[in-house]
Amino acid sequence: MLGVTRSDCAARDAADPLGHLRDQFHLPPGVIYLDGNSLGPLPRRAAARVRDALQLEWGDGLIRGWVEANWWDKPVTLGARLAPLIGAGPGEVLVADSTSINTFKVAVAALRLRPDRRAIVTDRNNFPTDLYMIGSAAELCGQLEVRVVDGPEGVVGALDGSVAFTELTHVDYRTARLYPMAEVTQATHEVGALAIWDLAHSVGAVPLALDACDVDFAVGCTYKYLNGGPGAPAFLFAASRLHDALRQPLVGWHGHARPFGFEPAYEAAAGMRQFACGSPPIVSFAALEGSLEVWEHVDLDALFAKGRALSELLIECVEPSFVPGEFELASPRDPLQRGSHVALRHRAARSLVVALEERGVLGDFREPDIVRLGIAPLYLRFVDIWDAADALRSLLATGVVDSPA
Ligand SMILES: *Cc1c(COP(=O)(O)O)cnc(C)c1O
Repeated sequence: MLGVTRSDCAARDAADPLGHLRDQFHLPPGVIYLDGNSLGPLPRRAAARVRDALQLEWGDGLIRGWVEANWWDKPVTLGARLAPLIGAGPGEVLVADSTSINTFKVAVAALRLRPDRRAIVTDRNNFPTDLYMIGSAAELCGQLEVRVVDGPEGVVGALDGSVAFTELTHVDYRTARLYPMAEVTQATHEVGALAIWDLAHSVGAVPLALDACDVDFAVGCTYKYLNGGPGAPAFLFAASRLHDALRQPLVGWHGHARPFGFEPAYEAAAGMRQFACGSPPIVSFAALEGSLEVWEHVDLDALFAKGRALSELLIECVEPSFVPGEFELASPRDPLQRGSHVALRHRAARSLVVALEERGVLGDFREPDIVRLGIAPLYLRFVDIWDAADALRSLLATGVVDSPA
């Protein structure tokens, strides 16, 4: 396969200072896992933390867990642990609910900060749940106009003084295109609007600097590159400069200033706590806590550089098989404009993904014609990428995937 040999890759793995991190994960034998951008694998610490949460905290502690095991504080303490991964201050992140629900909360909070503005701008390439949630927020807040435009260029072009907020997904879930966060946020602010970013495919995948980019709100998943487990609670970010004026719509007792006052009238807690709603999934928090411990001692710059090197290797290995119009790179070729997955376009993408899985390579299919291969440098090796590319190349060469599924 071109110039790179499997033994070149093995040598790179042997010299990789991050190579030991792979041992932190349970990875089933015989599988090359290129779908960690959909559901990260199980970190051993997460399994241990869940066992403790069940046996010790719940089993032995019973109701005392809320205080003695700090269950009550987890949304805030886990948020503080996550903050360095997104370039936020420790008091700017809360772990709660799902990305979908958090999108709704920040959308309405943003609209309430701009009550005189009648429009929202978002991207048609956005993950659908974002569009649904924004549409519903717009309807509830008085039939606002939702401008659904194409990409960051479209968003910037649709800005004017009537816009309350922009909402974009930072790394396109299909193509991995990385949007220019600083530029779009700045353009949004120039018309007096607020910027919301969805970081589902960014956190744990690419460098993030929310405070440096002056972002207003962000949301994201913890079950993708962060490996928090299926359905793991999501996070949300609000810049601290906004906290005092915020009013989010889902006002449950966990976000009350005095939840155990059991008062009939709502009064929001200070800071990010006000974004909490009802009782959270404590066992899932335990898994997330274990998974975040893995991140704590990782040199992020080195990790993201390794991720780019793995993606580049994958592209270099499959590039010779590209046929214009038949099999192509759907991701940007420039690694600085790409997130951490590689999207390949093939008319038989669906059957290609199935055939790869039969050879132990797990990726995924996205409508209509995308093979998505997630590159997670915490646990993937250069040889894994080489083997996956080899499987893909031999499938293409033998015509296994000639007909669309
Ligand atoms: C995965 C993903 C979500 C998922 O939202 P959930 O509420 O966790 O199901 C949201 N937005 C984007 C961009 C995603 O990629």
